[in-house]
Amino acid sequence: MNVSLNPQSLAWGRTENNIRALAGYAAARKAEIGRENVFDFSIGNPCVPPPACVDEAFRSVLAETNGVELHAYTPALGLPSLRKAIARQLCERSAAPFDWRQVYVTMGASAGLAAFCRAVLLPGEKAVSFAPYFMEYRVFAEAAGGSLLTVPPLRDMQPDFDALEALLDESVRLVIINSPNNPSGVALTERSLQMLSALLAKAEQAYGRPIWLLSDEPYRELLFDGRTPLCAADYYDDTVICYSYSKSLSLPGERIGYLAVSGRTQDPAAVFDAIAGGARACGFINAPSLVQRVVERCIDQTAELDVYARNRDLLYGGLRALGYDCVYPDGAFYLFVKCPEADAVAFSERAKRHELILVPSDDFGVAGYVRIAYCVPTDMIERSMSAFAALAEEYGLK
Ligand code: PLP
Repeated sequence: MNVSLNPQSLAWGRTENNIRALAGYAAARKAEIGRENVFDFSIGNPCVPPPACVDEAFRSVLAETNGVELHAYTPALGLPSLRKAIARQLCERSAAPFDWRQVYVTMGASAGLAAFCRAVLLPGEKAVSFAPYFMEYRVFAEAAGGSLLTVPPLRDMQPDFDALEALLDESVRLVIINSPNNPSGVALTERSLQMLSALLAKAEQAYGRPIWLLSDEPYRELLFDGRTPLCAADYYDDTVICYSYSKSLSLPGERIGYLAVSGRTQDPAAVFDAIAGGARACGFINAPSLVQRVVERCIDQTAELDVYARNRDLLYGGLRALGYDCVYPDGAFYLFVKCPEADAVAFSERAKRHELILVPSDDFGVAGYVRIAYCVPTDMIERSMSAFAALAEEYGLK
């Protein structure tokens, strides 16, 4: 029988993202030869536990909240007390105002990104992002009826604003930024945010329609070398923040985050209504009740994030010493390494022979690199160095 299915959805389902496929391969390999013998750098699952306050909050919420109330639907938009706490925190870090009534609690950043694409894109309209980019942006933009255009990076993986300017036209509704970046680890500089803001404001003027800036910030707190996170809303008025507690609180499996509309946008209440409608159309109402309450109690906390900077130093220093060409990561927990051959998939396959699981960069919109997720125990990085050395030798590096 001809099962008529949506071919687009079928294709998305079948081209399961390479990261998950590699993580599956790594899991099978660990079962075969032992966990300690596989250097699994595939997936961005934090290796540090959530802070103690998370465990305490789970316990206290369970003990203190009536079960019927705890497990009931929350308001579709999220608990008002959590939305107020999020708005308060954003106001403390940004000069732009954030009203709690324009904060939508989501199931992680993924749900926020998908809902926002649905909120603003009309069929045929475009979102733009800077390569290398989180691969799901394309799926979310296309699922909303739009498409994703990408701007190739400069050599240091900073955005190429001339290329952006050439792309901007009246069909571009949305620009998505992600700093610090998955997969490069590079953070946008203040100068970059100023240049981006100037370009977008100019295009808004020229086309007489807003261009929304969606700042995807799951790694906001994971910045090294004493850098403090910049808030995109301080630089550009039509900004919406997309956040996730997956990395900062080490809670990726609990699915919690938010969208927050800057009070400086044109008609923030209407933007918020469109977000609520976009989320509704995706079926994303009512993020999990228990974890909403937990996050509210831990709102100003993070997991012990210092390990990521130590891992960065160890890996970046170690690989450079072996002759690998690496992009210097300002934050997040990813290292982007130039492959010593043109084909990143071939290099990743060759690395597998040394039990190194590295993600080829093609799905991130850039050819010829691999991503190393170093959110792993430090001793694994230390133990992996001999494998990286053997691989370097095969390619005659150094
Ligand atoms: N955006 C970026 C840049 C990411 O790296 C990720 C996850 O790794 C997400 C969004 C999705 O995060 P979440 O787990 O909150 O859905």
